[in-house]
Amino acid sequence: ETVRVETQERSYDVVVGPGALRELESFLADADRVAVIADEKVSALHGDRLRSALGGAGRDAAWLDVPSGESCKTLEWFGHSQQFLLEAGCTRKSVLIAFGGGACGDLAGYAAAAYMRGIRFIQCPTTILAHDSSVGGKTAINLPGGKNMTGAFHQPIAVLYDTELLRTLPEVEIRSGMAEAVKHVLISSKEDAPEMLHTLELDKMGEEELIRHIVRGIRVKAEIVGRDEREGSVRKYLNFGHTYGHAVEAAAGYGGLTHGEAVMIGMIYALILSEQKAGAGRELTDALQEFAARNGYPLKSVKDYSFEELFGYMKKDKKASFGDLHFVLLPEAGAPYVSRVTEEDCREADREFRIRTG
Ligand code: NAD
Ligand code: ZN
Repeated sequence: ETVRVETQERSYDVVVGPGALRELESFLADADRVAVIADEKVSALHGDRLRSALGGAGRDAAWLDVPSGESCKTLEWFGHSQQFLLEAGCTRKSVLIAFGGGACGDLAGYAAAAYMRGIRFIQCPTTILAHDSSVGGKTAINLPGGKNMTGAFHQPIAVLYDTELLRTLPEVEIRSGMAEAVKHVLISSKEDAPEMLHTLELDKMGEEELIRHIVRGIRVKAEIVGRDEREGSVRKYLNFGHTYGHAVEAAAGYGGLTHGEAVMIGMIYALILSEQKAGAGRELTDALQEFAARNGYPLKSVKDYSFEELFGYMKKDKKASFGDLHFVLLPEAGAPYVSRVTEEDCREADREFRIRTG
């Protein structure tokens, strides 16, 4: 399947399905040099597949393995990536390929955005979560004091999402990625949300079903990014569940919880806030909580952190400004909007979250 993403910077295809990597060679025909930045774990598991997909054009591709997961999103590895591209002889006519999950894609995307003020790059995502991160052109690395604090908007020329590579994903990464797939349904569809929450069982999900969820998520993301590339308006809806979620993720010390696990917690929290602030009923919150508990999301981990600690992180979120907190609320599935909330609102929802998940 192919989903088209239309942005001002450029339009490109997201090709999803078993064997999608085979399309790679056709994007490399006019590249004077091909470089790869790969998650070292993915490189060990699936490097041969990428190498054969590179074909003639990329047979002598330069290759940089970076540390697995979040630990590659540092200034240090950003520096290595720039030096790597220079030493590989890359020019503005070269193409960089990102091969890994969201972390590797974020680093490689930023590397491509910065090198010679921008070279072309292709996302080859290998996690479920990366159905979100590989589409839309946001790239970033972390600073010692904050996540995703330096980065750029830089759209890929293509996203090749070979779903065969997902077969080696550990259970915890399936859970993480599927939280974003649930988010995409919640913010976009009143009809599909209850059905998904009541029937989806992650440990029984077949490959076709998984691809269906991924494609749907990509369609939602592509549609929103097409309307608002730079997050001036509707792109904010994609942050649903992320304010409280990021706070929990930060409190757990990045790695204590996966991004998606934290976002699941944040979405339930945002629905409770929507009950309190936007007159939402309880059905959707209950359905999401039941889905999360049934599928092993660690909702009780919030207990380890105080509200004060979490609120401290929420205020530091880069989307907060002048002390105001803005939340994406969801009075019903498919109808997100952004609302200003006070510390008292946040405290009240936090208290209720702990009661319901205690
Ligand atoms: P990740 O990239 O950290 O990968 C998670 C783990 O899975 C790593 O250990 C990795 O080595 C392993 N892995 C990857 N593919 C595998 C495979 N096919 N088989 C087995 N193991 C595999 O995690 P992620 O969840 O993909 O991405 C999270 C990152 O994405 C965060 O840094 C987050 O900030 C970023 N993100 C960015 C955007 C965006 O718009 N740019 C959106 C959401 C998230
Ligand atoms: Zn996210």
